[in-house]
Amino acid sequence: MRKIVVAIDGYSACGKSSTAKQVASALGYKYIDSGAMYRATTLYFLEHYINLDNPKDVAKALANLHIDFHYNERNGKNETYLNGLNVEEEIRTMRVSEKVSEVSTIKEVRHAMVAQQQKMGKSKGVVMDGRDIGTVVFPQADLKVFMTADMDVRAGRRQEELLAAGTLVDLDEIKQNLAHRDHLDSTRKESPLIKADDAIEIDTSFLSFEDQVAQVVGLAKKIINK
Ligand code: C5P
Repeated sequence: MRKIVVAIDGYSACGKSSTAKQVASALGYKYIDSGAMYRATTLYFLEHYINLDNPKDVAKALANLHIDFHYNERNGKNETYLNGLNVEEEIRTMRVSEKVSEVSTIKEVRHAMVAQQQKMGKSKGVVMDGRDIGTVVFPQADLKVFMTADMDVRAGRRQEELLAAGTLVDLDEIKQNLAHRDHLDSTRKESPLIKADDAIEIDTSFLSFEDQVAQVVGLAKKIINK
């Protein structure tokens, strides 16, 4: 059967990752969380006190960091590893969220991540979510989805996720972080967050998770069976 690439882009906390993961599982595809790669890079930069304004430091750090994903049978999750260590929980903390969009504006960081993402999706049969998947990483993707949602809905969802991971974060702090990241992500020079011309927009504000997944799976199946 024909294998395709599904690219899901959109603003922070619109439900891209959870939808992409479920769509991949429904199609029997690999799921790749590109945001986790930017987060792991940010964690490395924070822990090694990398000066973001020094291209030599940045290049050295990029040469020394290795990111990959391993499936955890206990929880059924594909977890993020940085230089052999499981950093899945740590990369979701506010400490990383507050810095990640700044790190993601760096051209060298983007080039390194995009090259690795393109390698991961080379044999197709992947669902990847992020900000530039349909525009830069896979401009030829067979299906491009652009997800949006109301800020209140997005902040509420992110608060629940953080709470499930054991931290209660104030809703206003979350909203500020989301707005700040949206701003940096959509105004940066290098591959800004924009909707690809041929992307299908899905507003998830009033959709149930099941409906969100069903819409994307339906669109994918139409292309696969064409
Ligand atoms: O998807 P997630 O919210 O985990 O992404 C964290 C951050 O990583 C985003 O706010 C953005 O700055 C950056 N990112 C990016 N390009 C991607 C995926 C994420 O710049 N493809």
